[in-house]
Amino acid sequence: MSASEQELQEFRAEVSAWMQENNPADPGFLLPQTFMEVSDDQQLEFLREWQHKVWAAGYLGMAWPREYGGGGVDAKFQSIVDREMRRHAVPICFNVIGLGWAGPLINDIGSEEEKAKYLKGILTAEDIWCQGFSEPDNGSDLGNAQTRAVRDGDEYVLNGQKIWTTMGNFAKYMILLARTNTETARKYDGLSYFLSPMHVPGIDTRPIRKITGEFGFTETFFTDARIPADCLMGEEGQGWRIAMQTLQYERGAEAGNAGGLAMVRVTIDDMIEQLADVTRDGEPVLRDPIMRDQLVQAIMEEKALAIGDKRAHIGPLTTDYPGSLPLSRKLRASEMTRHMRKLAINLQGAAGGLYVGDDEVRQGGFWQRAYFNSFSATIGGGTSQVQANIVGEHVLGLPK
Ligand SMILES: Cc1cc2nc3c(=O)[nH]c(=O)nc-3n(C[C@H](O)[C@H](O)[C@H](O)COP(=O)(O)OP(=O)(O)OC[C@H]3O[C@@H](n4cnc5c(N)ncnc54)[C@H](O)[C@@H]3O)c2cc1C
Repeated sequence: MSASEQELQEFRAEVSAWMQENNPADPGFLLPQTFMEVSDDQQLEFLREWQHKVWAAGYLGMAWPREYGGGGVDAKFQSIVDREMRRHAVPICFNVIGLGWAGPLINDIGSEEEKAKYLKGILTAEDIWCQGFSEPDNGSDLGNAQTRAVRDGDEYVLNGQKIWTTMGNFAKYMILLARTNTETARKYDGLSYFLSPMHVPGIDTRPIRKITGEFGFTETFFTDARIPADCLMGEEGQGWRIAMQTLQYERGAEAGNAGGLAMVRVTIDDMIEQLADVTRDGEPVLRDPIMRDQLVQAIMEEKALAIGDKRAHIGPLTTDYPGSLPLSRKLRASEMTRHMRKLAINLQGAAGGLYVGDDEVRQGGFWQRAYFNSFSATIGGGTSQVQANIVGEHVLGLPK
């Protein structure tokens, strides 16, 4: 039975009160703005505790099955929680690769054993997940991945290197794409998909520093690392299909994630409010006609994105180009976010060049950090150019 409007409203009020009461105080150290900048144990433990608390209150994985730690209720409830989280500006639920990609994948196509083994730990934040797809020479060209997985009795032996592994140094498990066969006619058919443990001899990680000065991802090396053969998901040779399904969750084309905020959300309204007192030549910069023109443009883009999200759920409004909205969302949203944050820097004039740690920087350098961080989403999960190719080929039917 679906929830009544009144039930949903009562639930919203309950969640709002909970968020108000439980939103943690400023911890006194820099918190990551997205799940891709968790740099040290202090941040990790803070975020782990927060995610666990949200789950224990029943506000995470609400639509996941009860027997695996979820709430077993309509996804509408989770949407309400997510909106309230945004409204109350609470910290992120950082275990995103588990919550948003590995978890939904296991829920959808995993065996009963896999569901029982992995799902609850994702929600409680006990088990952190990472993703081993990209390699130094094979990022966009993922189908060419060369990390080897060779069957040896009841185990697979892993050799090779992955890179840009978000939270690789903290993760207990990895969704791993590796080559089990080098002889296939199509390169894609030699790939297999593993739910691999990270804490085994022969798997080593080395953190990489980002443009923001923070860490957040690693190089990951496999040297004769042995993992149990039952870590294989599906059959050998099905890796490409399963990886593409994973990317659909990652790029937001499929719903079904467990909820929670993956990154700090700021809107153009927030930006206008926070930068309203910036002046240039004694006048508020927000009165500058060129700046106003740019702001209006950005507001239109932000609105278009929100309207597009609503439209995507209304079949008759999407018949001309089915799939166009979900398939183009990552491209539009990540570019819009980057554009908006750049605008926030421009509004600050010369002070936009300051950074975290400078005495004079506004809001501790929030916008500068946000701008640098915004490049992440235009690259991770497929670059904007690759996303544009996908829209061109799969939506508009253009030649390769
Ligand atoms: C913050 C962050 C976190 C990440 N986290 C993870 C993670 O957890 N796990 C993981 O596996 N990977 C992760 N990645 C890696 C990410 O998926 C890759 O960086 C991305 O797929 C691009 O691959 P590449 O870096 O090898 O660039 P390349 O593929 O070498 O691309 C270089 C340039 O060429 C362009 N290009 C390439 N091919 C085409 C084409 N066919 N048409 C047009 N232009 C093209 C690209 O757009 C880009 O501008 C992360 C990346 C970032 C930035």
